[in-house]
Amino acid sequence: MHKPYRGRFAPSPTGDLHLGSLLSAVASYLQARQHKGQWLIRIEDIDPPREIHGSAAGIVKDLQALGMQADEAVSYQSHNTATYLQAVTSLLTSGKAFRCSCSRKQLKNHPVYPGSCRKLQTDTCAVRLRVATPQLTVIDQLQKTREYALAKDIGDFIIWRADDLPAYQLAVVVDDAAMSITEVVRGCDLQDSTPRQLYLQECLGLPQPDYLHIPLLTDKNGRKLSKRDNDDPLNQLQPLAAIRLALQLLGQHPPSEISDLNRLWGWAIAHWRVNNIPSRLATDYIP
Ligand SMILES: [Zn+2]
Repeated sequence: MHKPYRGRFAPSPTGDLHLGSLLSAVASYLQARQHKGQWLIRIEDIDPPREIHGSAAGIVKDLQALGMQADEAVSYQSHNTATYLQAVTSLLTSGKAFRCSCSRKQLKNHPVYPGSCRKLQTDTCAVRLRVATPQLTVIDQLQKTREYALAKDIGDFIIWRADDLPAYQLAVVVDDAAMSITEVVRGCDLQDSTPRQLYLQECLGLPQPDYLHIPLLTDKNGRKLSKRDNDDPLNQLQPLAAIRLALQLLGQHPPSEISDLNRLWGWAIAHWRVNNIPSRLATDYIP
């Protein structure tokens, strides 16, 4: 039986919604709506030092104003620490993960973890996942299939941080499973997280969603646009114009006579074509 489609948009509360993250939101929203599925919002707030106060509420409010309403209450990773701890404990108990007491300084000259603590038992808090699979294939709904030499290029990676916070990879995997996400739509900046997450799902015995990575938004010179750019075009635009721009950047071509946000969404849901997303998203479109 086919599982009902469930997608999500999962921003970190480290600033305002910007044009680059809006593209991920719109693409994930349209995928869900076109599949007559559900679309959820998850705030990835497990890194308090990086968080900006008020940002989570601002992002949710902006999405609503832009016509994107989640089908369930917004979820917050900071509320789920107990679940992440449970996952880490089960991996430690089964020997699939181990505690690591190496300092940053000790690992300075090792791009891939050298395995120093694989046999030690220490009580220091960082926990690494034992990477036992040499090779992993990642299938993407939009990008080329990629092979990752997991053990050689990535190595035993951190799933619980030494400062006693869950690592990003672990939290995402546990939540995607808990929320029954069937497809993850996100930016290509997270593409290299996918082999880690697939491997972690395997170790935890969790179902694996499909993955679709959309190209990163760049300026005319091919430079990645980031939250740090104060001149984000989103600040200047009304909701209708913002969504029209997002659709154009994603290679969709809404008729110019649509002058109402609801009608624009209606058109977008009916005409959304993933395969029209260009291989490069550039702001050349911005007038
Ligand atoms: Zn170590």
